[in-house]
Amino acid sequence: MPPADDHATTLLKDTLVWDNHSCMPLRPDDHSYLEQLARCRDAGIDVVTLNLGMDLTSRSSHLDMLDSFKRWIDQNPDHYTVVRNVAEIDQARRDGKLAIAFDLEGMALLDDGDLDLVEELRSQGAFWMLVAYNRNNRAGGGCLDEDTGLSRHGRAILAEMKRVGMVACCSHTGHRTALEVMEHADNPVIFSHSNPSAVFEHVRNIPDSLIRACAETGGVIGINGLGDFLGPGEDYAAMMVQHIDHVADLAGPEHVAISLDYVFDQSEVYDFIDKMRESFGDEMASQFTCRFAPPDTFPHIVAALLKKGYTEETVSKILGGNWLRVAQEVWG
Ligand SMILES: [Zn+2]
Repeated sequence: MPPADDHATTLLKDTLVWDNHSCMPLRPDDHSYLEQLARCRDAGIDVVTLNLGMDLTSRSSHLDMLDSFKRWIDQNPDHYTVVRNVAEIDQARRDGKLAIAFDLEGMALLDDGDLDLVEELRSQGAFWMLVAYNRNNRAGGGCLDEDTGLSRHGRAILAEMKRVGMVACCSHTGHRTALEVMEHADNPVIFSHSNPSAVFEHVRNIPDSLIRACAETGGVIGINGLGDFLGPGEDYAAMMVQHIDHVADLAGPEHVAISLDYVFDQSEVYDFIDKMRESFGDEMASQFTCRFAPPDTFPHIVAALLKKGYTEETVSKILGGNWLRVAQEVWG
């Protein structure tokens, strides 16, 4: 791992840094891990998107998590703030606070057809929502299921997301459904946390054709820091740069960014996999190695990109400028 030298540290400080998917325990009564958001601040991160839940967790659990995060952030106003638009991100940065937005992994919480919830979540800081978490839901297909494509219900949700300004994401989603989402989109669609399968083959990684289709919408692919999706090894910065490099070469550096997918309470992952083995599939569950690039990988990624010859301007886009562009276009 290249040392995080002064050049990397200075660039991190001078540029907007956005980790677009981060996983705190989904336990609304347990705030003990939230203090570790300080690790994001120490690593130079300015914006972090916290997960509210996935198709495996209920609608009420998503709302409980949202309330819980907001309660803790309200109690810690000196260092943390919820953001709902780009102006609030700018303000948070000026104030030296970590800006916190939210994300949802799957549309199953809208299976009952009550789409008013989309606007409610958007107004409280939800930045993106993906279509289906590994398995099919009423909206569309998951990447570990027999993908039946984007449904009418899924299209209605996407239309509502567009109306209220929430970003559509196709990570975890089946490839056919993802392509249909992107073909019908007239604003940027993202893969919030998905790696190219051309660099490392895994059911959660995505083919070059989907990377190109995403870029054509003006969207961004967030490189995931989970070891199982990066490939073998422990040098997370080097592995992430390999994946970043591939997407930058294929689609242009305007279309790649970072979403560490870091799980702060790693015992929770094993609980989830045990309880919901069906969603992950036997192969993925049994091969899971629980390796994660931690927040403090960011300075090393910067150093590695600079060493590879990326310009400061390009590194800034990859660190946060590209997510910010999507936010400006969709979130407002
Ligand atoms: Zn995920």
